[in-house]
Amino acid sequence: METPAAVAAAAKLKKIREAYLKQVPTQLEAIRTAYEELTRQSTLDATLLEDLHRRLHTLKGSSASFGLKRLSAAADTVGVLIKGMMQSPESTDKNWRLHWEDSYSRLEQEVTQLDLTPTVDVRAVELVAASELPVDDRPQKLVYLCEDDSYQRLTLMTQMECFGFRVVSFGTLEQLQKAVNNAPPDILVMDMIFPDRPTGGAEMTETIRQDIGTDLPVIFISSSNHFLSRLAAVRAGSSAYFVKPINVTELCTTISNLTASAQPEPYRILIVDDDPLMTDLYAAILQEAGMSTRAVNNPLQIMEPLNEFKPDLILTDMYMPGCNGMELAATVRQIGHAFSIPIIFLSSETDLGKQFYAMRMGGDEFLTKPVVPENLISAVAGRAERMKIIRSFMVRDSMTGLFNHTATKEHLGVAVARAERNGEEICFAMIDVDRFKLINDRYGHAMGDQVLMALARMLGQRVRKGDIVGRYGGEEFALVLPDCPLTTALELINQLRESFASLRFPVGNETFSSSFSCGVASLSCFPDPEKLCKAADTALYQAKEAGRNRVLAAEVPA
Ligand code: GH3
Ligand code: MG
Ligand code: MG
Repeated sequence: METPAAVAAAAKLKKIREAYLKQVPTQLEAIRTAYEELTRQSTLDATLLEDLHRRLHTLKGSSASFGLKRLSAAADTVGVLIKGMMQSPESTDKNWRLHWEDSYSRLEQEVTQLDLTPTVDVRAVELVAASELPVDDRPQKLVYLCEDDSYQRLTLMTQMECFGFRVVSFGTLEQLQKAVNNAPPDILVMDMIFPDRPTGGAEMTETIRQDIGTDLPVIFISSSNHFLSRLAAVRAGSSAYFVKPINVTELCTTISNLTASAQPEPYRILIVDDDPLMTDLYAAILQEAGMSTRAVNNPLQIMEPLNEFKPDLILTDMYMPGCNGMELAATVRQIGHAFSIPIIFLSSETDLGKQFYAMRMGGDEFLTKPVVPENLISAVAGRAERMKIIRSFMVRDSMTGLFNHTATKEHLGVAVARAERNGEEICFAMIDVDRFKLINDRYGHAMGDQVLMALARMLGQRVRKGDIVGRYGGEEFALVLPDCPLTTALELINQLRESFASLRFPVGNETFSSSFSCGVASLSCFPDPEKLCKAADTALYQAKEAGRNRVLAAEVPA
């Protein structure tokens, strides 16, 4: 089955790429002209150098965005030469023209050898996958995109729209500023380098944030991976920074996260102090800052809250009866899952030697009592945030961002316990891509990865809030569907199956499709997590046996 939207999007993208390729020689000519202009001067003119560098830099970024890696690398080589001359004109090699001719001729050669036949276009895959997503109950977020390079602007815009965003794009900083003041967007995607303004994106972002407030999230996109560019972005208030060529799946995931209406989970802080008044005080300060707290007045009773409350950070007093803070830290460090929880000591201990000793025992920071509330909050928030990120690395699969095998099983356990308490139904589904080995063999492992990511994204976007999507193994995925009767689960997954089977993945001038098989089991027939998994797995096996590309419910045991 062809999907008109997907085909149209892929065709649009192809056109943009062709148009881009056509004008590369003009871009190269402009670079040559800029160089000749430069060599006409008796001394190195800083402005001309800068102009030349910007042009090379633009070529590097845009060509990479269109998958022309070698051209991009060649432009980079020349760019690095010019950059060196800009930074220290006095130590420029007398023979720099020779170096230029050498690296420029390689660039020229790359341009003449440009391969006009489209290769595997990774972004096209994402396009095809994304245009399948329904936009129904998700209100579209408004994205403003500011990028001076028209080809990149068009490409990015098209792709972001396919992920369900409303995108308005601007070619100049001034147009953007006007629009923002008229109607602020939900998020801003900003290029860094503009004509004659190497950090123009950052400067304008600062202005905008002064005008309309700092709540507006901003993502920077740039061909520069230099620390200074990144620093400029951070100082301008950026939330994320992407180096070109942009991975659109990642960009759109970040946009979704930054514009999500749901409040993030508060940090969970475990406070240990033998004095209940002190735990009350710290709890009040931290709760005021939006954190969730649990107090423990007897350090010997820390195990239960450690396992149940799963704190992002432990704030502990130093001297307590029964077990001091250092012993507490050392003990916590020996508990597998608690190994990396940050521990902050709060004590009136001013002896530096003792403080260092405490850190060696496994503490991360030492705050001296009495502590200023603001200092307490910032010390706690910074470390708790890092812990949350580390924890997400532990529970998420790095390729798809879905829950990993262990986390999925944990979620299943928790969901089953809750369903049993509330007398609700719950379904568990196992999904396995059909003949996936063939895809790897025919189109390469990288293409196989793209198929998996498209499926992962589709599953993630299409399930209800509260459903769990996990990557169970290589090309196996699992769904935990709480409060969902078997018939509803079958219906939902069948829709997913049809959508996935209708996706076309482009390879060269052709496309191919994939499919999955699925086994589903419900808690009412298989009343514990182990039985559920086993039943879903058996049903999946039967779906494969029965010819693949189908969803089967687990048969109820006699
Ligand atoms: P069936 O329809 O019976 O499921 O056939 P299949 O080929 O999908 O199943 P099989 O289990 O024989 O092969 C799965 C292949 O998936 C083998 C493995 O190399 C590949 N694979 C596992 N993880 C990844 C991954 O992350 N990326 C890619 N590209 N391939 C993967
Ligand atoms: Mg398979
Ligand atoms: Mg398999």
